[in-house]
Amino acid sequence: MMKREFTDILIIGAGPSGMVSAGYLQQHNVQLKVVEKQQFPRFSIGESLIPRCMDNFAEAGLLEIIEKHGFQKKFGARFIKDDKVGEFDFSQKFGEGWDWTWQVPRADFDHVLAKEIQSRGVDIAFETEVTAADFSNENPVVTIQHKDGKQSEIEAKFVIDSSGFGRVLPKLLDLEQASTLESHSSVFTHIEETIRPQGKEGELITFEVLETQVWFWYIPFSNGKTSLGFVAPTEWFDQFDKDPEVSFMQMISKLNYYKGRFDNYPLEFIPKNIKHIAKSVKCLYGDKFALTGNSAEFLDPVFSSGVSFATESGLRAAKLALKELNGEQPDWQADYADYMKEGIAVFSSYVRDWYNGDLQDIFFHKSPNPEFKRQICAVLAGYVWNMDNPFVKKHERIIGAVAKFIQLEN
Ligand SMILES: Cc1cc2nc3c(=O)[nH]c(=O)nc-3n(C[C@H](O)[C@H](O)[C@H](O)COP(=O)(O)OP(=O)(O)OC[C@H]3O[C@@H](n4cnc5c(N)ncnc54)[C@H](O)[C@@H]3O)c2cc1C
Repeated sequence: MMKREFTDILIIGAGPSGMVSAGYLQQHNVQLKVVEKQQFPRFSIGESLIPRCMDNFAEAGLLEIIEKHGFQKKFGARFIKDDKVGEFDFSQKFGEGWDWTWQVPRADFDHVLAKEIQSRGVDIAFETEVTAADFSNENPVVTIQHKDGKQSEIEAKFVIDSSGFGRVLPKLLDLEQASTLESHSSVFTHIEETIRPQGKEGELITFEVLETQVWFWYIPFSNGKTSLGFVAPTEWFDQFDKDPEVSFMQMISKLNYYKGRFDNYPLEFIPKNIKHIAKSVKCLYGDKFALTGNSAEFLDPVFSSGVSFATESGLRAAKLALKELNGEQPDWQADYADYMKEGIAVFSSYVRDWYNGDLQDIFFHKSPNPEFKRQICAVLAGYVWNMDNPFVKKHERIIGAVAKFIQLEN
């Protein structure tokens, strides 16, 4: 017989999604256990946050500790294509909500969150991997493998799967489904910009568009490091050298706005490559489990929505799981799946319209309509559930319609 321990709620994964769930549940005195495959600090991608996640960190009681670490503040975002610039300032956005957030090296950021949760008495088992799950009994039972190779079991009343691209329950319960979005891939690394321009040029997250479907990110951090990455259709990367460092510099040489700026900096690590980024699932919850963050759905990095969705779903799932523990019967379909899908649908429209060029026509228009810009800015800030915003409410058609007017002008 394998050794078995018991907990009320088991969280798989100690990324932002799992830590926001844990923060909320710990504040409500729930008995918790977190199982995390890696040792922290560990690298993770997803370094540019959007303001909506601040609400979620605040509700999980994590904002103060993050604030203490002095991460680079992010007040907006800039998009550049040739000589055209579209810049968004979150303080100008339509409706309520946070005006700023952070750009973070995720190794440090996620470590800050995990240490805080541990310091509040939550048991996080690092270097411990969930390898199997059995939902056929009254309570779910998962098998975990420890660092020394030994296995044991955890029986929980509810499981929140926040395992990111590990996608533990989608894989074990056959819940994976192809995304409806086109397949893109990404290559990225860090550099240390020893001579970084002062002010905006050295602080503002910037996206340089090389071709309609190909773009580059520049994300400076407060620790002197900078994240550089490319996102493009998977086959775009085939034209470059087989050596990842050589090919990365070949891609860098294609930049226009940033031409020459990074040529003399060694890469901090061999560029990492994630192929076929978009992920989906058949359902977001089931009997005694919920999928959150990337374990549930991931669209595309272009609007930096990943951590916001991860924390939004982590918080929601935690609230409903708490109700379930208290003997209530939460409406997982309406209050979790439908709610999350509404937000996902809005961002899916923006991702589609980014890659078909319509949104880029709006972003790079010489004299953008200021009201439209405010409303789009609120979407970019992550406020995608505000039905007062026409760019949320009519997300399926409005971008195409506005772009058509712009295209007729030209
Ligand atoms: C190229 C690219 C660029 C991106 N850029 C951005 C961006 O700028 N901004 C943004 O917000 N998002 C971005 N994202 C998305 C972002 O990376 C994710 O949405 C976010 O990290 C999801 O958080 P999470 O907590 O769900 O998962 P993660 O942060 O990945 O955490 C999951 C944790 O689960 C653990 N785990 C996995 N398997 C197991 C297992 N079997 N047992 C136990 N533990 C396990 C992992 O070790 C990991 O620590 C980007 C994604 C990509 C691919």
